[in-house]
Amino acid sequence: MSDCIFCKIAAGEIPATLVYEDDAVIAFDDISPQAPVHTLVVPRTHGRTLADFDAGALGAIFSAVPRVAQVKGVAESGYRVIINNGPDANQTVQHLHVHVMGGREMAHGMVAFIEE
Ligand code: AMP
Ligand code: ZN
Repeated sequence: MSDCIFCKIAAGEIPATLVYEDDAVIAFDDISPQAPVHTLVVPRTHGRTLADFDAGALGAIFSAVPRVAQVKGVAESGYRVIINNGPDANQTVQHLHVHVMGGREMAHGMVAFIEE
């Protein structure tokens, strides 16, 4: 998609701090990190949400996550994997991406709701 920022990063048209890449995904550090390790795993093919990818594609995306964790040095210490999928999850970039976050012990709770 021509106006998609993650498609542009995957095409090398916008710079990013590359962490890992293979045939299916590119992984790069989040530009506004919310944890000491905050890397995004992004399918090379454009799709907005999980529903836009078949089982094979999802397998390739998730298979990359532990590899990214290894590269970032959090495979043993642990990490949290988050996908903001659609409006109520506050997805801001409309190209599926997996947040891989770690490097510091987190609180147990993981969901914050907007106050009514
Ligand atoms: P989400 O809210 O789940 O859609 O997350 C989008 C993420 O993309 C945010 O954490 C942003 O900081 C990150 N982001 C946006 N633009 C860039 C960029 N050019 N390079 C790296 N990360 C980005
Ligand atoms: Zn895209």
